Amino acid sequence: MPQRVAAVTGANRGLGLETARQLLAHGLRVALTGRDLDAVERALGGLDAAPGSAIAVAMDVTDPSSIKRAHRAIVKALGSVDVIVNNAAILLFESSDVLETPLDGFRKTFETNCFGVIEVCREFVPPMADRGYGRVVNVSSGAGQLSKMSTYAPAYSMSKSALNAFTRILAQTYRDAGVLANVVDPGWVRTDMGGRSAPRSVQQGADTTVWLATLPDNGPSGGFFRDRRAIEW
Ligand code: NDP
Repeated sequence: MPQRVAAVTGANRGLGLETARQLLAHGLRVALTGRDLDAVERALGGLDAAPGSAIAVAMDVTDPSSIKRAHRAIVKALGSVDVIVNNAAILLFESSDVLETPLDGFRKTFETNCFGVIEVCREFVPPMADRGYGRVVNVSSGAGQLSKMSTYAPAYSMSKSALNAFTRILAQTYRDAGVLANVVDPGWVRTDMGGRSAPRSVQQGADTTVWLATLPDNGPSGGFFRDRRAIEW
């Protein structure tokens, strides 16, 4: 089994950093990416990774030229990218009244949480398909579940539902090319976004993401998972 290479977005803190840590523990080489290179380098420094097993790369998922530069840098340093974990996201302060959410709030949220993921996939997935191996893990949220939709953070919730839809379409498009694409709900996790009173640790929250990132070839694609189990859309 070749040593796979994973890239993680928003890996300078929270669930992204823990996902990078667990992927390294699984024997993958990892590119930690983030929009603030200093922050990513500090995060990498705290991982105590074996020499050559991890790199820090600048990537702002809302900037297509930054995504392209990051991809080139990772390929140069680590050879290829077999796994992409789209973890980066924002949750703005939001009213629970959808009609009070300003259009700009929708735009900003979708720009990062949905369009950013599409642009990252546009750059990273076709080379995976060319090589016949790829794993895409898009970090969504229970807030994006249509079956349980509430008034919580309308722009954030809608951006995650759209991300789920994108992932299902991507999965069907690349199914025969060896690329498995899934979405994960990490649960409510103690991070800057989740807050201190969340019940889950980052270790628990990242577990299903790492499981999906390392699926065998006969693993699922086009699914939505929490705690390694399929959940309702
Ligand atoms: P954090 O707010 O702690 O971290 C978010 C990460 O995303 C940061 O690294 C941040 O970078 C990065 N980011 C934001 N915008 C961009 C951008 N334009 N380009 C690159 N990186 C960016 O969140 P969590 O770790 O809690 O969340 C990780 C994922 O898990 C998200 O997708 C979130 O929606 C999801 N999730 C989290 C839950 C929770 O309870 N924590 C619950 C359900 C889902 P920077 O430091 O530069 O801001």
